[in-house]
Amino acid sequence: MTDAPDIAPAPVRIRPEIAALPPYRQGKQAGADAFKLSSNENPFDPLPGVVDAVQAATALNRYPDATATRLRQRLAARFGVQPDGVHIGAGSVSILAQLMLAVSGPGDEVVYAWRSFEAYPGLALIAGATPVEVPLDADARHDLPAMAAAVTDRTRAIIVCSPNNPTGPIVTRAAFEEFLAVVPGDVLVILDEAYAEFVTDPDAVDGMRVLGLGDHPNVVVLRTFSKAFGLAGLRVGYAVGNRRILDAARSTSIPLSVTAQAEEAALASLAAESELLERVRLLTARRDVVVAGLREAGWRVPDAQGNFVWLPAGAESMDAAAAFEEEGLIVRPFAGDGVRISIGEEDSVEKVLRIAASVVQTLPEGHSGRALAWTP
Ligand SMILES: *Cc1c(COP(=O)(O)O)cnc(C)c1O
Repeated sequence: MTDAPDIAPAPVRIRPEIAALPPYRQGKQAGADAFKLSSNENPFDPLPGVVDAVQAATALNRYPDATATRLRQRLAARFGVQPDGVHIGAGSVSILAQLMLAVSGPGDEVVYAWRSFEAYPGLALIAGATPVEVPLDADARHDLPAMAAAVTDRTRAIIVCSPNNPTGPIVTRAAFEEFLAVVPGDVLVILDEAYAEFVTDPDAVDGMRVLGLGDHPNVVVLRTFSKAFGLAGLRVGYAVGNRRILDAARSTSIPLSVTAQAEEAALASLAAESELLERVRLLTARRDVVVAGLREAGWRVPDAQGNFVWLPAGAESMDAAAAFEEEGLIVRPFAGDGVRISIGEEDSVEKVLRIAASVVQTLPEGHSGRALAWTP
């Protein structure tokens, strides 16, 4: 059989809202001498103890522990909650999908900021729900009052991403508290903190602290081992929150998706946390150097609190990304909006700054990506 041409429709009936989604295509793979700065991965190799723990988990003929009990217990002890208040998933994105399915369906609405994490619209649509996108403010931050105002009696979930991927800013603790005070208590609020460990702003919301106060049982916090802990390839993330909400997520999950190797690696990473967090400190320092350099070159870079920076290149984003790529830097463009660059290897920094400095010169006069104070 030959492949049908790309434009041919699927030979079976697909749900229309699914058929309308752009098909997933993996981002560019970096060549041997290129730096891959497109997926917010951790540039450090796994710690030796983490590799050893994975290699020791050799019972590949056995199914894993369905709820990753040891990892749940370990995280529960760390955050001072009950083990049933922790739920492990094959990446926190899979927990997001479970929560969407658990709370929303056709006719329901899911509110989130835009631009934010590219998985949000698809996950809401797959659940059958209607995505409601609330624009970021002029500083690329969540506009929480506008998000609260977008809540209707059809709203089932609101996703808040702090720091926001791909733009970088956090939500402050004060703004989040004000937001929770006005959002109905029966609407799920998902606080996606995939980059929590990189946050250096003392005013940032801390999901575990919000949960500790106990005032808002409708809040579920998502975190992951993919970014600061450097285990993106193994797929393991977690949710902390109300046990009954997490039970609903467990009910919509595909059973046994978290492998024993992923659980062992996560446990070993937690055991090596101080070494890992030392690397996180190196990355945040590197991030701050990159932000300072980009601003000096004339870019209007929003506050960067994750392991990535945002160039608001607007209509020039695809061209800008191509300019980086020509020089061996794989970055992530969002057409019409901007370019996200992950903080990677030390040797990538000088290259990023050099190319960014030449790209900013190509932006037309008055472009919003240029710092207001910048003059040629
Ligand atoms: C990377 C990321 C995640 C987590 O991804 P997993 O690898 O599935 O754990 C979740 N949310 C945001 C905003 C992210 O950028």
